[in-house]
Amino acid sequence: MSGKRDYYEVLGVNKSASADELKKAYRKMAVKFHPDKNPDDKNAEEKFKEVGEAYEVLSDSQKRAAYDRMGHAAFDQRRGGGGGGGFGGGGGFHDPFEVFREVFGGGGGGGGGSIFDELFGAAGAGRSGGVPQRGSNLRYDLEIDFNEAVMGTEREITVSKLDKCGTCKGTGGENGAQTEACSTCNGRGQIVRSRGIFSVAQTCPDCEGAGQKIDRPCRKCAGTGRRENTTKIKLKIPPGVDTSAQLRSSGNGEAGTLGGPSGDLYVFLHVRDHKVFKRDGDDLICEVPITFPQAALGSDMDVPTVTGKTKVRIPAGTQSGTVFRVKGKGVKNVQGYGTGDLLVRVVVEVPKKLTLTQRAKLEEFAETCDAAAHPESSGFFSKAKDFFTRP
Ligand SMILES: [Zn+2]
Ligand SMILES: [Zn+2]
Repeated sequence: MSGKRDYYEVLGVNKSASADELKKAYRKMAVKFHPDKNPDDKNAEEKFKEVGEAYEVLSDSQKRAAYDRMGHAAFDQRRGGGGGGGFGGGGGFHDPFEVFREVFGGGGGGGGGSIFDELFGAAGAGRSGGVPQRGSNLRYDLEIDFNEAVMGTEREITVSKLDKCGTCKGTGGENGAQTEACSTCNGRGQIVRSRGIFSVAQTCPDCEGAGQKIDRPCRKCAGTGRRENTTKIKLKIPPGVDTSAQLRSSGNGEAGTLGGPSGDLYVFLHVRDHKVFKRDGDDLICEVPITFPQAALGSDMDVPTVTGKTKVRIPAGTQSGTVFRVKGKGVKNVQGYGTGDLLVRVVVEVPKKLTLTQRAKLEEFAETCDAAAHPESSGFFSKAKDFFTRP
């Protein structure tokens, strides 16, 4: 096989193209040279095949690696027969139309308006067949307040999505419409197309494999059974959720086609930060500044909780960084496994400005301090003595 064009050149991408770039390039070329868009154009048909073949190889990382190493020689044996078998042999090329569907990620009755539909010139009347299919799942990102996450809340969200067509109630047919055998494929669901030296059976583009069609498709939804709609959905957010929690709203995704079941709506929660609290699972962490006298003398103090306040006893001689655990004042576990704790971390605030009197008193205080008053620092200096006496 001489004179075969470089696959990268065929797709118009460079050698380092990503899978995504390949897909885009393939889609563009496939649309341009699609036989249904270029009837009786042998050249376009050749190009379409060439593009399909290039994509088939380059979209498969193993085949692509082999091609990068050896070029077309890597696949020569599969075309060796010359004539008869077409793309036979190891693995074989799949139906270019099937690849096409994958590229559009769509398959099935996929709501009107994909490029696939346009190619068949069937935006309306022709596309009334197909098999009922489950609707896609949808994602909705919702930001909630810290307190809402802790206490739980109810929210109403507005979602624009494909819903069941109200006119035909999702059936895709006008009132009293009948299903009849698809005339394009005579009810077989498949048609055979010849592609030069070989022929392929492919899913019938008219009925999408169902073998039957609705004789009078619903005009409102072009026979797909669903239409774009804006819906309000109530969400119950349980107490104890946190960022990255996903709520599933069953059946509130996209409607299925032709009465197929709806997908689900997944709500991804994002919890706003709180001014005072942080979360650690079901525990709440709160950092509380205390004064030096409070730490030294001890004190009872009020600390905030999500529902109000609670008392924490700071014993005399409390060190900065000490954490006090208040049982059961944290977050209710979202699965119902009890309630977390409130962790109060105290940080001693050293006075930043002293009046002359305060300064004098503090100096007086310092003179009275011995090792017993500050065991840590005196201990440290006796441990580190060597460093200071070394020559
Ligand atoms: Zn309808
Ligand atoms: Zn058909």
